[in-house]
Amino acid sequence: MSKARLATAWLGGCSGCHMSFLDMDAWLFDLAAVADVVYSPIADIKVFPSDVDITLVEGAVANVDNVDLARDIRANSNVVVSFGDCAVTGNVTAMRNPLGDPAEILEAVYVGSPDRDGMLPVEAGIVPPLLPQVLPLHKVIKVDAYLPGCPPPADRIQRAVEALLDGDPSRIT
Ligand code: SF4
Repeated sequence: MSKARLATAWLGGCSGCHMSFLDMDAWLFDLAAVADVVYSPIADIKVFPSDVDITLVEGAVANVDNVDLARDIRANSNVVVSFGDCAVTGNVTAMRNPLGDPAEILEAVYVGSPDRDGMLPVEAGIVPPLLPQVLPLHKVIKVDAYLPGCPPPADRIQRAVEALLDGDPSRIT
């Protein structure tokens, strides 16, 4: 039987959901027997591949690079999962939303604060522009399943991945 093609992606999040993924510990060896990880920040693969069976997406959509990657993921994944509260609701990443215009926030933090060097973090092609508002993943692309938690605990991630590998996302709780 051919192995499933599994991806995990990191948008606007703290990487805590990926740390929880790694907390599955020895079960990762069982996972490796049935699935190849074809894209992931923990595998340092640069380009999102085609024909991915399952993609777990950590983080909210906060900048233009996040939008591009989310669309790549949707175009190349059979099943997309909002992985963790930031992807599901915006959560911590969206805490800037009530503060309004991100340009004004950056100005206040990087220029107005006395302990900064007075320079905005701007570099074309390197620092992606922020979106006006942080968005949960389903506001940008179609999402097939949701795995909430901040982060979701490892045993719940394991049960969710098992359900996805069985082709039954409805078992995700
Ligand atoms: Fe970090 Fe929690 Fe967001 Fe996951 S859901 S990326 S652990 S803040």
